Amino acid sequence: MTRLAQTMGLTDTQIDIVTTVRDFADRVIIPAAQELEHTDTYPTEIVEQLKEMGLFGITIPEEYDGLGESLLTYALCVEEIARGWMSVSGVINTHFIVAHMIRHHGTPEQKAKYLPRMATGELRGAFSMSEPGLGSDVAAIRTRAVRQDDGDYVVDGQKMWLTNGGSSTLVAVLVKTDLGAARAHDNLTAFLVEKPAGFGEVLPGVTIPGKIDKMGYKGIDTTEMVFTGYRAPADTILGGEPGRGFRQMMDGVEVGRVNVAARACGIAQRAFELGVAYAKQRETFGSPIAEHQAIAFRIAEMATKVEAAHQMMVNAARLKDSGERNDVAAGMAKYLASEYCSQVTEASFRIHGGYGYSKEYEIERLMREAPFLLIGEGTSDIQKQIISRGVLRSYS
Ligand SMILES: Cc1cc2nc3c(=O)[nH]c(=O)nc-3n(C[C@H](O)[C@H](O)[C@H](O)COP(=O)(O)OP(=O)(O)OC[C@H]3O[C@@H](n4cnc5c(N)ncnc54)[C@H](O)[C@@H]3O)c2cc1C
Repeated sequence: MTRLAQTMGLTDTQIDIVTTVRDFADRVIIPAAQELEHTDTYPTEIVEQLKEMGLFGITIPEEYDGLGESLLTYALCVEEIARGWMSVSGVINTHFIVAHMIRHHGTPEQKAKYLPRMATGELRGAFSMSEPGLGSDVAAIRTRAVRQDDGDYVVDGQKMWLTNGGSSTLVAVLVKTDLGAARAHDNLTAFLVEKPAGFGEVLPGVTIPGKIDKMGYKGIDTTEMVFTGYRAPADTILGGEPGRGFRQMMDGVEVGRVNVAARACGIAQRAFELGVAYAKQRETFGSPIAEHQAIAFRIAEMATKVEAAHQMMVNAARLKDSGERNDVAAGMAKYLASEYCSQVTEASFRIHGGYGYSKEYEIERLMREAPFLLIGEGTSDIQKQIISRGVLRSYS
């Protein structure tokens, strides 16, 4: 048989790009990941090389100096990068979502101002919906922007869980604007906040307090963002008009879900590879453990899950690329891939016996990374809401 998780029907360009990224993951990311992760060190050199490879602009149209590639190409690259180390994919994921939102919802001036600098990685994106009191229930956002007589807005409130909050320089922030709309969603507005990288008071009225200490997803920064009387110019509203932020963010999160599915596929593939390699070399009772049926069957289950998750993820990406609505397909791919990733990672951990518990072994790191995928871009419960709503609509 061929290797698992093959993608049929790719163009030569797609094959070239994905092969280059896979090679980069094998040569550069995997050898460096363990030490950087254990010391919670930002992968600066790796990020510089990603910039040179053009990965920050992979989906940005050529007219804005990007590579103009599809969501599928991007997702396949993310899969390869996450196979190396999930945190490296985390550096480009929020950037990609913000670029997607600007490209599809920004004014012509915003596209011209931000996209070329985003394509080179000079400007780096993060997005912020969550707050200390909410994540799933986005409509409950409390951070408020109040319109002033001169048309600008003053923002007050606290945002939570910004991936790349400190290292990013352009944050798309969803806040409440009191527009008097009946539906809470229609009172939400996305602002583009350009700021210097770093921690502390980075702009008058904008503070990034510091890194949140996490179980996994180390190396990259996850932060809060505190607004105290921050003055946001009216022309920093994404798309120029208030009240559209919820739909704009949901569009970003929808492609973000394909991208989380791709990350889950990458981690599951790595866990699978490690499990198989270990099972072939570890002997008990006179034979390699791969020859014990319990282990062989576990490998069969892992392989099936790796394959199914990949195909679901590819399907969701292709659907979006074709211009079709993909909320259900993206929800299914994210749900299935993240759940399978956890299961495959745990199965590989069990195959490793006691050594899987040692920090010397890569599987220990994957065990701490996989759970995040069950939560980020909407928990499995939220994916089930999206899937069931869509399915019930189609089968009414
Ligand atoms: C490392 C990390 C990075 C993150 N990065 C970002 C980021 O860059 N930007 C950003 O905006 N956010 C980010 N988040 C936040 C993330 O999106 C939220 O944590 C996630 O959406 C869940 O929200 P919550 O934590 O508030 O959980 P809650 O919404 O409080 O949910 C708690 C539990 O209740 C369940 N639940 C909630 N509502 C329902 C329902 N209606 N039906 C059934 N079950 C329900 C959930 O599934 C979950 O099990 C990040 C989080 C982490 C941990």
